[in-house]
Amino acid sequence: MAVHRGSCHCNAVQFEVEADIVSGAQCDCSLCRRKNAVMLRIPKENFRLLKGEDALSLYQWNTHVAKHYFCKNCGIYTHHQPRTRADMIGVNLGCLDGIDAGKLPVERVEGSKLSGGR
Ligand SMILES: [Zn+2]
Repeated sequence: MAVHRGSCHCNAVQFEVEADIVSGAQCDCSLCRRKNAVMLRIPKENFRLLKGEDALSLYQWNTHVAKHYFCKNCGIYTHHQPRTRADMIGVNLGCLDGIDAGKLPVERVEGSKLSGGR
């Protein structure tokens, strides 16, 4: 699998993911609609935070199970720990070097219709 470097906009948060990226996902829950990010879903162990743990801020809402991380300097969503899959990580494809998320097929995820979703 390929290793891709990623960062927030101000570079305070840097990470790498190990993944063969062939598609993205977009969720329709009330948070994701506002973020409008195309995400990559990978096993947790394929995500490594390299720098910026202290720059990350955490947003939690609704059931307060999922962990939505963003850079507190530049406000960019970098990754999140989904509510329904503790073994997975969602990564903002737009943060990855050399990846044009707009050119990938995007799967629609209906997060708003999951049990407890909105
Ligand atoms: Zn930043």
